[in-house]
Amino acid sequence: MITSAEIKAAAIKAGADLCGIGDLSRFDGAPKEMDPRELFPEAKTVIGMVFRIPRGVQRGIEEGTQFYQYPSMAYGGINEIYAPAVLYRVGQLLEDSGYEAMVYRNTGARGCVSDMDGSPGNTLSPEEQIEVNTQAKSKTAHHRTVQYTRAARDGQVPPDLQFHFRLAAVACGLGEIGWSKMFLTPEFGPLQRVAFIFTDAPLEPDPLYQGPPLCRKCMACVRECPGQCLDKKESIKVYIGDKLCEWGKLDEWKCYAFYTHGGRHYNPFVPKEVWDANENGDLNLLEGKCEANEAEIMKVYRALEKYFPSWVGYNMAKCGGCIRACVSMLEKKGGCMHERFKTPLRTSGKAWKMDR
Ligand code: SF4
Ligand code: SF4
Repeated sequence: MITSAEIKAAAIKAGADLCGIGDLSRFDGAPKEMDPRELFPEAKTVIGMVFRIPRGVQRGIEEGTQFYQYPSMAYGGINEIYAPAVLYRVGQLLEDSGYEAMVYRNTGARGCVSDMDGSPGNTLSPEEQIEVNTQAKSKTAHHRTVQYTRAARDGQVPPDLQFHFRLAAVACGLGEIGWSKMFLTPEFGPLQRVAFIFTDAPLEPDPLYQGPPLCRKCMACVRECPGQCLDKKESIKVYIGDKLCEWGKLDEWKCYAFYTHGGRHYNPFVPKEVWDANENGDLNLLEGKCEANEAEIMKVYRALEKYFPSWVGYNMAKCGGCIRACVSMLEKKGGCMHERFKTPLRTSGKAWKMDR
């Protein structure tokens, strides 16, 4: 019978940086719409793989010199090319051993509930939604959910089911969630992406991470967020198995705008005059003049997407504030990134901010 050690060795050989194995009972208490056991009810095990983000992929944003490499290499490249190839290899080994490998690459906005906050997606009937779209004379609205989905059989969750990737990585014993809501590992801090295989192979699970806390609760991620999207005090708490996971309350829609477009002081691609003019109030959200909601996000995206047109199928990161702040703090103050590199990520003291 195939063993956990053989699976992990195959994952590392195929190109994963870390591999951990979780027991699916650790998802007890997950909302049904996000419970991976609904995907493949006969599955017994989840295999989690970590793919590191090279620190240097952040260098251009850290210096304010190159913004294309991070989203294209560290989102597009890892999620679309590198990780799927590794999933195939490990899946081959499982299926050659007589077990099924349900591969699940990194994705987003595919569930019947929002992948940002778990809120229910469209409650309109498909007919009503068609009417809305026809009236709006636009493409399908951008809801972070699948729009027309309905359960294929009674009692099932509507497809596509999308589970919480970062919590699944915790369930595989690979690390912890930081205050920033980023997933942290002892090996790479916040610098990784993850992908999974669900299988009916009865593999021995790894224990949940029990080492020293990976998050220093330093709040550098809160301070360096250009949109003040992360709360310093209010938190979200959930359990994976018996492990408490806690992170700061995040305004996900606000982050969605700032992460991609940065705001007046952090987006060198949009002229100052555009921020000053703020035509039709389209930039109110980024200018701190309104609450974040889907309609305001759409205004921002429509107004600014032309200023950085070469998208790679992913939103183009202008921000990376929390991830760079976290790396920088963990390097300086001690923690999982300490002494990993000969020189720190941040050599100039403070992160840049445009004076305008
Ligand atoms: S990605 Fe940017 S906008 Fe979002 S929480 Fe992190 S620092 Fe804030
Ligand atoms: S910046 Fe500090 S508080 Fe935020 S996730 Fe990293 S270690 Fe935790």
